[in-house]
Amino acid sequence: MQSSPLRARHLIGDSWSGDADMPIHSPADTRELLGYAPSGSRADATAAIDAAAAALPGWMETPAPKRGALLFKLVRLLEAAADDIARLLAWEEGKIVPEARGEVEKAIRYIEFAAGDARRLQGYTAPSELNGTFAFTFWRPKGVVGLITPWNFPVAIPLWKMAPALVAGNTVVLKPAPETPLVTQRIAELIREAGFPPGVVNIVYGDAEPARAIIEDPRVKAISFTGSTEVGRQVEARCGALHKAVQCELGGKNPLIVLDDADLDLAAAGCAQGAFGSTGQRCTATSRAIVMEGVADAFVERIATLARAVRPGHPLKEGVTMGPSVSARQLRTVLEYQEVGKEEAKLVVGGVRWADLPHGYFPAPTVFDQVSPTHRIAREEIFGPVLSVIRVASVEEAIAVANGVEFGLTGAVYTRDLGRAFEVVQRLDTGITQVNAPTMGGEAHFPFGGCKATAVGPKEMGPDAWRFFSEPKTVYMNHRLAPRTAGFY
Ligand code: NAD
Repeated sequence: MQSSPLRARHLIGDSWSGDADMPIHSPADTRELLGYAPSGSRADATAAIDAAAAALPGWMETPAPKRGALLFKLVRLLEAAADDIARLLAWEEGKIVPEARGEVEKAIRYIEFAAGDARRLQGYTAPSELNGTFAFTFWRPKGVVGLITPWNFPVAIPLWKMAPALVAGNTVVLKPAPETPLVTQRIAELIREAGFPPGVVNIVYGDAEPARAIIEDPRVKAISFTGSTEVGRQVEARCGALHKAVQCELGGKNPLIVLDDADLDLAAAGCAQGAFGSTGQRCTATSRAIVMEGVADAFVERIATLARAVRPGHPLKEGVTMGPSVSARQLRTVLEYQEVGKEEAKLVVGGVRWADLPHGYFPAPTVFDQVSPTHRIAREEIFGPVLSVIRVASVEEAIAVANGVEFGLTGAVYTRDLGRAFEVVQRLDTGITQVNAPTMGGEAHFPFGGCKATAVGPKEMGPDAWRFFSEPKTVYMNHRLAPRTAGFY
């Protein structure tokens, strides 16, 4: 795909910096060297915040529709480069090309939607109870904001955080995941080409050290974080102590409920897509199938057949239907949970490393049956292609089991009965619920995010995403210059 290794460099102000000394290999074949990225330090983060702070006054003053116009320009550049970006994303992160193309498409649609918000950003007016007074609200940007993102959607997540922050007039410092710097670099180049003024978007590579520096710096007014629940808890605690606005989207353990009147072929196909798609590395991945006893044998037979039909392989190769885990660490986690599952439940298919691809991080698609809601594989996020089938006796029990974990991102229910569908929709503790469709992410113009330990703060995407990056101000204008005759003191 490329003749020489790629190089990621920090984007700070209007220059590229940092020694790209960390090698990045393909997770599908570790013999393939893709490029290098800088490790990233506290000093790099501070330099990026300096640049963002310097650019802030000019960007705040730029009329919002002009800010939006730059995002529309970025949309056009991303559209032109979408196929190349998708291939690089697939190669570096491991999802197959059609999934990578879908991620890029989603990012583009979201930026397009957020750019349109530049002409809204609406406050409101209401009659004041005070004489001679006109009262209204408007929104000011928070200032410099920090975005800390994971590797599993390295194109979409940084962009769906960045777009509403920029539209609202903030300048940003992005600290992307260390596993996927090269695709971020490609996006950074397009951001520059779109013509954003220097310092409006800054990108610092590396891991926890620069991320912590961004969180700690008093000039950074808000943190939008997506990643693991474990790290998210630390981020929330630190932001709380610093009185800093924080938005976290974290882990999941998403349930797919199959009721006894469901279309079982549809349910099994949706479950396979949710469980094995993107190698189970979507935050919205299906990891629990909660199935009513009467149809459980038939469902397990179908899902096992679909698991066996998965074709793991190099994500750039035609015909491959599942790529690798992103890293050796992630593969190790999945293999460990496969062993835990063998102790706890009944292995139906998989449960091992995929033997045919020894140079990549490939787990075999795995299904466990007879899983109890108390088992670790039924409670803990695995982030790999491992499905736990939990059998239940009633709709009531299905809902109780689905809600009986600490997470709450997405959920799905398969049924032909409208009343039962609504019962589940209303009572499932998830931010998103699908009916007769897999546990997937959402569309640009609807809110996305979870509840319980999955999320803290306002939802991302949708029409209100920019509000997290904004402060409302209420204005009372005494336009007659008359003394007030009533009201508050
Ligand atoms: P992670 O928590 O390991 O890392 C996320 C980001 O935090 C990275 O940029 C990392 O460098 C940084 N980081 C690491 N240690 C830090 C620290 N001590 N302080 C501050 N920042 C730190 O997560 P990951 O492995 O990159 O991503 C996978 C996780 O993300 C999964 O748990 C998945 O469910 C979750 N996720 C959630 C959503 C959602 O919308 N709910 C979306 C995508 C991914």
